[in-house]
Amino acid sequence: MTDTKNATAAQVELDPSDLFAKAYAPVEAQALRQAGMFPYFHPLGGQLGNEVNVNGESMLMVCSNDYLGLSQDRRVQQAGLPALEEFGTSCTGSRFLNGTLALHEGLERDLATFLNKESALTFSTGFLGSLGVLSALVGRRDIMYFDRENHASLYDGARLSWGDLRKFRHADLDHLEFLLKRDADKAVGKLIVTDGVFSMSGEVADLPGIVELARRYGARVLVDDAHSTGVLGPNGRGTPEHYGVEDEVDLIIGTFSKAFASVGGFMAGPAHVVDCVKTTARPFIFTAALPPAQVASTHKSLEILSTEPELRERLWKRVAMFREGLAGLGFDTMNSEGPIVPVFIGEFDDAFSFWKQIWDRGIFALPAAPPAVPPGECLIRMAVNASHTREEIERVLAAFADVGRSTGMIS
Ligand code: PMP
Repeated sequence: MTDTKNATAAQVELDPSDLFAKAYAPVEAQALRQAGMFPYFHPLGGQLGNEVNVNGESMLMVCSNDYLGLSQDRRVQQAGLPALEEFGTSCTGSRFLNGTLALHEGLERDLATFLNKESALTFSTGFLGSLGVLSALVGRRDIMYFDRENHASLYDGARLSWGDLRKFRHADLDHLEFLLKRDADKAVGKLIVTDGVFSMSGEVADLPGIVELARRYGARVLVDDAHSTGVLGPNGRGTPEHYGVEDEVDLIIGTFSKAFASVGGFMAGPAHVVDCVKTTARPFIFTAALPPAQVASTHKSLEILSTEPELRERLWKRVAMFREGLAGLGFDTMNSEGPIVPVFIGEFDDAFSFWKQIWDRGIFALPAAPPAVPPGECLIRMAVNASHTREEIERVLAAFADVGRSTGMIS
């Protein structure tokens, strides 16, 4: 093994017998850090509305998933306090053992009612929800059909399951049908898995097309609605409500870390299926339960987002203003439909250079690069929140106009 104790990346040769050698390999992140061009992990020193403090400078946040602006809502913040006082800071155990509180079950009941499903289950994060649901339900010989651009947590869930994975080209239902047809005579469980809203591009999946194929080929449908529960649909019930196909989507999974302004994940579906996951999923059973304050705040967010449609109305006004503003300037906002608004850039170096210039103008928006997007399809990923003011949107548009013209991206 190489003695790497005092070595720099350049000095250390890759030694296949040293597990840590890869950590010294010169990687893009190191070069970017040295050049002051690393966009990620900047600590926020505080937040007031959409103004965040970064190294003592005030910046305008325009990439948070706080779609309804509830993280700054006093009602959501204060809902956690009584739970903290009554139940303490942590459940200090799994839901399976000492970690199930009446608070968890109350939230699950109300979430199931909100989503028009028989039953719901909460997880400690949305990521763990993806792992738990796929690993518990997809057995040996079962088949999962994945949109190629599905979220990383679904891919890891597929790896934890024992089933076979078939990927269809992004949003290409002809390809999905080709795969389903090929397996048509296999008497195995089949599950089509798709993001409701894709997390980088903001595109909305074609759920009517997907449920039609599922019906025709005897497959179940799971939608990861992390970016759409609370946001899409007249009542905020996500992509299934948006398209009017709620009864045909078998399982919804999602997160509390976005529109709910909290942390945690969930699944909703038929009671016996939810119960199967509850009693067998290792990422549910072998991890600590959601802490009481978090559950109480999430519950308050659920109450607000299901009774105050004006939050969504405000959000859609701001989203339209931003997307139309960018398109009017000549930027490509891809096929985004929801509050996630990307600006397509293309090559890695161009995206990072664009990001730096936006950043230097006080705008907190970040580039998405592989593996989050395909190579050569880098973008600046932004998200509009209901709490953004018209003036804030105008500030971001002005910065994009400025940088777009100086880089020659727009004229
Ligand atoms: N699914 C999708 C589509 C997501 O975008 C995310 C989070 N980025 C998750 C699941 C995981 O959610 P959580 O933050 O609750 O782990």
